[in-house]
Amino acid sequence: MKTLNMGFCLLLTGALLVGCKEEKKEETAMPEQTEVAKKGGITKAEYGTTPEGVKIEQYTLENAKGMKVDVITYGGIITSLTAPNKDGKYEDVVLGYKNKEDYFNGNPYFFGAVIGRYGNRIAKGKFNLDGKPYQVTVNDGPNSLHGGKGFDKRVWTAEEVAGAATPTLKLSYTAKDGEEGYPGTLKTVVTYVLTDDNALEITYEAETDKKTVVNLTQHSYFNLSGDFSKLITDHELEIKADKFLPVDATLIPTGELKAVDGTPFDFTTAKEIGKDINATDDQLKKGGGFDHCWVFTDSSNKLKEVASVYHKASGRYMEVYTDQPAVQFYSGNFIDGTKASKTGGNYEKRSGLCLETQHYPDAPNQPKFPSTTLSPGEKYTTKTTYKFSVK
Ligand code: BGC
Repeated sequence: MKTLNMGFCLLLTGALLVGCKEEKKEETAMPEQTEVAKKGGITKAEYGTTPEGVKIEQYTLENAKGMKVDVITYGGIITSLTAPNKDGKYEDVVLGYKNKEDYFNGNPYFFGAVIGRYGNRIAKGKFNLDGKPYQVTVNDGPNSLHGGKGFDKRVWTAEEVAGAATPTLKLSYTAKDGEEGYPGTLKTVVTYVLTDDNALEITYEAETDKKTVVNLTQHSYFNLSGDFSKLITDHELEIKADKFLPVDATLIPTGELKAVDGTPFDFTTAKEIGKDINATDDQLKKGGGFDHCWVFTDSSNKLKEVASVYHKASGRYMEVYTDQPAVQFYSGNFIDGTKASKTGGNYEKRSGLCLETQHYPDAPNQPKFPSTTLSPGEKYTTKTTYKFSVK
């Protein structure tokens, strides 16, 4: 493992050598002084090789508190993210495959990945821009999901941002004009910043040379228990959204913005995900549980808190901040027990939950939805933060 930015072993008088895993105690140098570890930085390691023979790297971001986020250059995937419980124990709280091949051979659940060029669904993979029809890859029944062979299945270029206050990893990927059917060369940069107050800040930037549509998001599945054999139905969720988008049988929004009030979709006050998930409800039936887009009550594009998740037994609490207008809350309904878990056994239905901040699904076909069109000369910039603490 190569150490990139671990120059933080402070020399202090009189104490013992602690931490600094990569360093051996120097018996001879400055015997009257002692090195005390300050955690933090980015380390880089080889992760594996794709079936096409491309070498994939893993970057580990670590903050001063010892929270760690592992990111691979394949799909910008977060393969591991640790957060403290009420006893201060840091454990992995995101699902990931035990076998690396599951990432490289399709990542069927989109575990941890950056999603683009268009997160969520586009009906029949068709839309028009300036009167010109486009057909993008159809990969989910009759629809296009998460960009076809999307950004989650591409190799990104990673660069540690030197001089940043806390570990900052910049990932770049340029999608070709016509890739998966989308117009425009799209230069995309996703930056992961791990702050010292245990927040993962994600900034998405994109520029195009032709009019196109863009909807980028992150597809981490959280399970705050730290034990992936447990389900997320006991997690308490709050979403600051008074409306959601009902869907048709293929999970395309019908166009209606429906009030959550009086429905199982009301998370305006925190409640356990399992409380209403099995209620008799046509929308829950269509999604096999929650798999819908919630529209925030505060429609401003400022960064604001939009959702939180609390796991009582561990005390772990996650807040979600974004400048996006909506979030896809997906309760892991399609996880089918076929993939090995990092902590033993296989992942089951509802082993994890996603809070994918984004614009509305199928916006390119629904003129009443906020636009997802990006034109040359414009800059797509959005930010989402997942912040971890205890309650
Ligand atoms: C979608 C689900 C889909 C899942 C794939 C989510 O973003 O809403 O319908 O099955 O991604 O993992």
